[in-house]
Amino acid sequence: MRANFWTDLLDFIAPRTCAICGRRLSSTEECICIKCLCDIPFASFHHHPLDNPMARLFWGLFPVERVAALFYYQPQSPPYRLIHDLKYHYAPETGQYLGRLTATRMVPHGFFDGIDAIIPMPITWLRRLQRGYNQSEEIAKGIHEITGIPVYDKVVKRTKFKGSQTQLNTRERRENVQNAFYLKQPEKIRGKHLLLIDDVITTGATVTACAEELVKAGDTRISVLSIGLTKG
Ligand SMILES: [Zn+2]
Repeated sequence: MRANFWTDLLDFIAPRTCAICGRRLSSTEECICIKCLCDIPFASFHHHPLDNPMARLFWGLFPVERVAALFYYQPQSPPYRLIHDLKYHYAPETGQYLGRLTATRMVPHGFFDGIDAIIPMPITWLRRLQRGYNQSEEIAKGIHEITGIPVYDKVVKRTKFKGSQTQLNTRERRENVQNAFYLKQPEKIRGKHLLLIDDVITTGATVTACAEELVKAGDTRISVLSIGLTKG
């Protein structure tokens, strides 16, 4: 990307800074600096999208196709700040950037081939109100920019809110999200290959609950993509 005069001028008046280390960005850098980009612990699941540690989280729970994550996610690891800003510090542009970064890395490996629609993981209206947006929708917008795949953001709705899942184990998480989703437009996804998008996947319980609702439409295929995979 070639920066133009106006980008340079804007950078001079209001310097953009790296979302991870806070260093001033050059006009060719986007969201994070090149050093922080190189330090990201990227995952390579998209090289083996049908069989990898993240795909195995879903085996036997719903018929899953391709599965990948952009990076491994651990509290205090460099990318932690990106996700934290996206969820708690009003940074929708970070979500879009992460979506573009993910798509750019995975398109050459055919990860998106044959996918008909992107489904961002829904959040409750209360969460959306608190945050100002759905972070998975922002990620989906970035993926759409690169792949052109349409985003269906009204197909499934999240109905239940029981607070944070952070302190719960796998079984408790599963119970917490049971019946938390409602399929609103089954006819829109019938017969389609869907890509479910989430920000961070830990046990896969939320994705599984949402996928179980999507398969009710009949004849759907489901792939899963997240930005982070929590390393246990
Ligand atoms: Zn940096």
